[in-house]
Amino acid sequence: MNKPAEIGARVPLWIAGKPAPASSGRTGPVYNPASGEVVRHVGFASAADVDAAVRAALAALPDWRDTSILRRARVMQKFLQLLQENHKALARRVSEEHGKTLPDAMGSVQRGIEVVEFACGIPHLLKGEYSENVGTSVDTHTVRQAVGVCAGITPFNFPAMVPMWMFPVAIACGNTFVLKVSEKVPSTVMRMAELFRDAGLPDGVFNIVHGDKEAVDAILNHPGIAAVSFVGSTPIAKYVYETCARNGKRVQALGGAKNHAVVLPDADLEFATDALIGAGYGSAGERCMAISAVVAVGAAGDPLVAALARKARAIKIGPGDADRVDMGPLITREHRDKVSGYVDIGVKEGAKLVVDGRGFRLKGRENGFFLGTTLFDHVTPKMRIYQDEIFGPVLVVLRAQTIEEAIALVNANPYANGTAIFTESGGAARRFENEIQVGMVGINVPIPVPVAFYSFGGWKSSLFGDLHVHGIEGVKFYTRTKVVTTRWPHQDTPAPGFHMPTLG
Ligand code: NAD
Repeated sequence: MNKPAEIGARVPLWIAGKPAPASSGRTGPVYNPASGEVVRHVGFASAADVDAAVRAALAALPDWRDTSILRRARVMQKFLQLLQENHKALARRVSEEHGKTLPDAMGSVQRGIEVVEFACGIPHLLKGEYSENVGTSVDTHTVRQAVGVCAGITPFNFPAMVPMWMFPVAIACGNTFVLKVSEKVPSTVMRMAELFRDAGLPDGVFNIVHGDKEAVDAILNHPGIAAVSFVGSTPIAKYVYETCARNGKRVQALGGAKNHAVVLPDADLEFATDALIGAGYGSAGERCMAISAVVAVGAAGDPLVAALARKARAIKIGPGDADRVDMGPLITREHRDKVSGYVDIGVKEGAKLVVDGRGFRLKGRENGFFLGTTLFDHVTPKMRIYQDEIFGPVLVVLRAQTIEEAIALVNANPYANGTAIFTESGGAARRFENEIQVGMVGINVPIPVPVAFYSFGGWKSSLFGDLHVHGIEGVKFYTRTKVVTTRWPHQDTPAPGFHMPTLG
């Protein structure tokens, strides 16, 4: 098997099975957020580079689509094995460029690998339906066929997992793929492309372009691309959805979040606090499924806030590759300053600042993009620290008197990615599950993490489109259904009639 290529000073594109330089002449810096240093640059794709990637994908499509499903599944199985062997090396790349801790990066890569595991079952997943005698001696069956060249556009916070929500399922279904990951974290998928090639994937089936709006717009407007999967912030998700719809493309665009956890007075507060600390501050709050708003109901409020404050202060902050670190830095200096600015805003808005992360400095890492943990209490729905997705280690607590009030609060929020309830009452949990207008729900589980064989996706402003990613919904997104009706002559069947039949 080929050795990993050096990442090098400039990350290239990956077109037709090999690295290719970007032709725009524009580049972006890639940081190690823990040191604040630029570790490499990434070449930005021009529209011509995107066109070259799409042409490679179109050229590979006929053969790959017609490759037997068992052969396609065997390539996925080999890819799965190579990913497992390289799990830690991939997680190191994730941690280096994103900043999350190594154990957290390992977990995120594992979640992505599980989608490849799911895609190995593609011969079963692509089975159609069959009905005999829909009319006299007439049979009907369905087939699920690849849609063509698919594209994926992904955010910075999961450099491996979110791309793996998309391309393994799309490619297993017989499509070819063009991926554009966040320009802030470009290296991990380059290694995946090498592993996929080593697993036997034909050149051109999987291509990578890097870049910014220019590359994204070239994807959205390219007539050779049939379907686009996007994950990122809500304004860009909406733009991607609208542009693709206008261009007649199939599209699923997952957006931002403000995930609430409702804590009822009967909850095990110690258990709930531990869960909320991990969900609020894990990965420095840079998770689309992070809990960023806690709704404390009735008597749960004061003891919950006291326990959250104690545990938030005890979180160990440091570089992602250091031992016994809970939380790493944020992605960039600008983002760290923006999150810190939200703490200023919360104070001005009159929320009670219980833990203030703004003064945090890590000795020897003064240039790293670190920020301490912040906890606000008595936050109200009118405040910007409640309304905006902060995407950092800032947890806000709202107070509600009843479960009705808590459910109404969650349902009034325009975001609807994930939510959780903490309670010992089965009746309250069932009611929450039934009435809550959110795509993913945890019951005493703060982040209902993506399970590959179920789908993942929110509602309302957290997802534009009809189908979620991976699971059966992913297979549906990356295939088109064809309905075939068959009749064979010379079987004593009536001659075909002129009018639509009234009897079968
Ligand atoms: P982002 O929207 O800034 O970027 C996402 C992708 O869009 C990147 O590849 C980026 O290069 C591209 N992009 C950025 N600006 C663009 C523009 N003006 N025009 C065209 N393309 C553009 O998101 P991010 O900051 O990388 O990631 C964080 C966001 O992603 C958060 O809002 C988070 O909630 C969301 N997210 C959502 C999910 C989910 O499943 N719903 C999962 C992970 C992250």
